[in-house]
Amino acid sequence: MKLHCFDSLPEGFLDAKAEDLEKILPGPSLISIPGDETKDPLFLSVLLHGNETTGFYAVQRLLKESEGKLARPLLLFVGNISAAAKALRHLPEQRDYNRIWSGGHSAEQKLATALLEKLREYKLFAGIDIHNNTGNNPYYGCINYLKPEFLNLAREFSSTLVYFIKPDSVLSMALSKLCPAITIECGVSGEEAGIEYVMNFIKHCIDLEDLSSEYATDDLNIYHTIGRIILPQGATLGFGEDLEDLDFSFVQDLDQLNFQDLDPGTVLGWRNNFDLKLSVLDESGEDVSDKYIEYQGREITLQSKITPAMFTLDTEVIHQDCLGYVMEHYLVK
Ligand SMILES: [Zn+2]
Repeated sequence: MKLHCFDSLPEGFLDAKAEDLEKILPGPSLISIPGDETKDPLFLSVLLHGNETTGFYAVQRLLKESEGKLARPLLLFVGNISAAAKALRHLPEQRDYNRIWSGGHSAEQKLATALLEKLREYKLFAGIDIHNNTGNNPYYGCINYLKPEFLNLAREFSSTLVYFIKPDSVLSMALSKLCPAITIECGVSGEEAGIEYVMNFIKHCIDLEDLSSEYATDDLNIYHTIGRIILPQGATLGFGEDLEDLDFSFVQDLDQLNFQDLDPGTVLGWRNNFDLKLSVLDESGEDVSDKYIEYQGREITLQSKITPAMFTLDTEVIHQDCLGYVMEHYLVK
């Protein structure tokens, strides 16, 4: 798999649908978009996950509106277009494009390495990797370093921030070695409000002069990820209390709990197969379930105070990725 580089927008790019990009681009592509050359370029990444289209449509709209006059050059990476053609996160035979950025020899990892090598030729102003998720979540940013430039970039997007260092194979982690970098989570894919919000955020980042000023973090809600909740392979699940023929069932509005501070004893769902357990894997991959999850009869309850994120009602996502993340408040010293 090769990294394709373009010095200008490929024909048809501005009017393409995400699912048709495969007809316009030969593969994953880095597109250099001119702007005021006295400014350092802003790097944007869209469609690392093929079914997360908000970033792509936001950039498309911005480029149409700006009519070729940008106050800063852009470097746009368009990621997994073959998965976008099928509206999938990634194709079954592919690696997850946001888990390939820490080296390795697979086709996708080599592509990632080639892009990072190319980006080293530039002095980047900042890097933004744009994602969506499936549950009910606010717009929020994720950063991997708690330095002022990173916090300043993130706060322009949202006052809700997640700080994590694992998995370390995400793009924002690799970008962090080159420039202030952030992953942004822009709600459900393709929603009009999200596209508009992200377009305005990018516009704003293009206009920013400097990210280095120090400031207080009092106005930020920073969370730290402590683990992911995983279901046993092949377990059946549903939503609602009366689903006793399934291994697990969760509360109907599970995703409404996202970014809410939950007390010990909060009911997450019910376990109908007593041979199975949920796993909570911490950043080093260790199972820390006993600290967070408790079983009382059929009930699955919280053992300690946590804030969840990315709880989803999409069973496919739950099987492919996880039920959601466990976080706690993080105080920047
Ligand atoms: Zn994503």
